[in-house]
Order: sequence, then C-alpha cells, then structure tokens
Amino acid sequence: MDILSLPYDALCRKFAALHGKLGKGVFHADAVFQKLYRDGVFDPESLPEFVANLPLARSAKQHFSFALPPLAGKQGDGDTFKFLLRLHDGLESETVVIPMRKYKTLCVSSQVGCKMGCRFCETARMGFVRHLTAGEIVAQVMVARHVLREPVENIVFMGMGEPMDNFDAVADAIRILTDQRGLAIAAKNIAVSTVGHVTGIERLAKLVGADKSSGRLQRLHLAVSLNAPNDEIRAAIMPVNGLWSMSELKDALLRWPLNHPDDFILAEYVLLEGVNDAPEHALMLAEYLRGLNACVNLIPYNPGLDGTYVRPSPERVTEFFKTLSDAGQYCRIRGTKGDNAMAACGQLGNRALSRSLRQAQGPVLEVT
Ligand code: SAH
Repeated sequence: MDILSLPYDALCRKFAALHGKLGKGVFHADAVFQKLYRDGVFDPESLPEFVANLPLARSAKQHFSFALPPLAGKQGDGDTFKFLLRLHDGLESETVVIPMRKYKTLCVSSQVGCKMGCRFCETARMGFVRHLTAGEIVAQVMVARHVLREPVENIVFMGMGEPMDNFDAVADAIRILTDQRGLAIAAKNIAVSTVGHVTGIERLAKLVGADKSSGRLQRLHLAVSLNAPNDEIRAAIMPVNGLWSMSELKDALLRWPLNHPDDFILAEYVLLEGVNDAPEHALMLAEYLRGLNACVNLIPYNPGLDGTYVRPSPERVTEFFKTLSDAGQYCRIRGTKGDNAMAACGQLGNRALSRSLRQAQGPVLEVT
C-alpha cells in the first residue's frame, strides 16, 4: 500500500489493525507520519518509538511502500520550470514550480490528461488518460520539497486535469498536505481550480464546512475557470457549460463558504483575441460576478502546439482590465511565466504519449 495515499487518520487505523488490537497503533503511526513528511524518510526501525516493538516496525515495512517516483525530466524557463515524474505504469505527471516573493508556488496535476475538452487548453488535446492517486498528488509536493529542495508553501491545483473529476483523491491529498503533523501547508495557501464542475464545488464546500471544529480547511481557496461572460461564448469554448450553465455555476459560487474577510473566490479568465476580449465582454463579466466576492485573474492566452487561438495585444489586455476595474470588479493580470518551456497555464500535456495510449486503448471519454 502506498503510504503517501493515506491521510493521518487512515494511517492510524491501518496501524491499529496491524497491531491486532484497535486503538493501539496511533502512537507508532504518528511517529511514522511525522518523520515521513518532515524529513522524507520512511524507516520505522530507526525510530525510537519502535525500539520496544521491532516486529511492528518490520510489519509496517512490509505493508506500506514509500517510493517517490523518479524525475523523468525538467524543463526550465528562468526561475519557472516544470518537472515530470515517471509513474509506476510508465505515464508521467507534470508539475510546475513558480517563484513567488518568499516561497515557491507549486502547480500540481490531479490527472494525466483531462476529459473536459476546453478548446484552448493543451491538456484537453491529450484526452483523458487516468486519475492520479492521492499519493501521486502528494508525491509531487514531496519531490519538490525533499528532492529538489524547493521551499514550497503554496499549492494550486491548476496543472493537468480537473480536480473535481477526481474528487476523493484530491480531498485526501488536501488532508495530507494541510496536516500540522506533516507538511503543514496552510489551507489558505491552497487553491483548487475547477472548470466549473458544480457537483464538485458543492462537495468541496461541504468538506470545508464539515471542518468547522478543527478549522484546518476553513480557508481553502476555490478558483473557477470562467473564461467567458455568457453561456453562448462559454459553451463554444468549454463543453462543460453544457452540463452546468453559468447561472447554475453562479448559484454554487454564491454558496461557497468564505470564512474570512480577506478571502475571495478566484475567477480565472483566459483572454482569447476576438472571442471573449472585447470591452462589452468585460462589462458582462462584471455583471455576472455582481454579488460574488471574487477576484478576476486575467490570463492572456498561452499558445498551444497549434495556433487555434491568438493572444490579445498588451493594449487590448489593459483595456479589458480597465473596463472591468472601472465597472467595480476587482481584477489582476496574471504574468505569463513559463510559456517558453510549455509550462504555463493550459500548456501541460504530452500528446505523443496519449496518442500512443489511445491507439492501444481505443477512444477516450469526452464530456458532451
Ligand atoms: N481543470 C482545472 C485546472 C486546470 S487549468 C480548471 O479548469 O480550472 C488551469 C487554468 O489554466 C484554467 O484557469 C484554464 O482556464 C487556464 N488555461 C487553460 N488553457 C490555457 C491557455 N492556453 N492559456 C492560458 N490559460 C489557459
């Protein structure tokens, strides 16, 4: 069993089961969990807590495996770079390291490929290959911290895949990442970015709400990829809009728990020339967001491998930004770090790999 897939409570339960008597393994599981996430080491026999119980240490070694996937590549563009991990089945995950003022932000993948089919996104062209396990998501953070020695304090689920489509694994990964006894990443430094998967937003809201007693997840951030000011444009570029309309999406966003005065929902908006970048679109967008505590992140389109769309000129981007701000909507323009290394938003994915898999496996799922 991959130990990186187990949140603290689940690990304690497994240890208790190994111990034969329920409730007895917590002390040992706790020691293992702390050592694993603080130092990147899984070696129960070397822990003082196991001196009096070496058979349990050996049994733990047999039952749990800890092997960080090896680096399969690193592609850089100055300070921003992406790294690939070789998974046990030969597939690769992609993760981007982005420097911030003091720390690094890690953009993690939740799937290999994606089913959502957004027309402007490189990952969509790959199709869906498979979900990542919680352990494979957590491993991306462990490799960044313990192998690459990057001071990662922020995590964004904005890499390959739709996190809400792999909800259980993403939720377990978040439980592990935020655990004070381990990596201890603050929930307010974690953002889950969704294509606008309404069921997923509702489930995540429940998870955050259910966390009231410990307060650990209360400030988890939600990012939503709007990318359009109305259903007509959105449906043309994002097939998911056929499942949940913008008004259904807005209802879900209105119910999202913002538990702190500094918190807001991040609304991502990829600017595509001639599609969604006109001043009238900015006005419509401001109207749509009225009543929501949101910050719009404007992302000038990053070109994929074939040039279906065009990035608007800096003047056009500024005009959109000004129109939106003047309409009273808080917004920012996101820099385009990493686009020379195909490491920027929407540029992750390995089409050649997925083509060969598709030939082997037949057609991939599509959201219609
Ligand atoms: N599935 C999730 C997370 C992955 S995409 C989601 O949809 O939010 C992460 C962000 O990159 C999204 O906001 C998406 O709109 C944006 N994006 C996708 N393709 C892009 C491109 N070619 N240029 C700029 N941003 C892009």
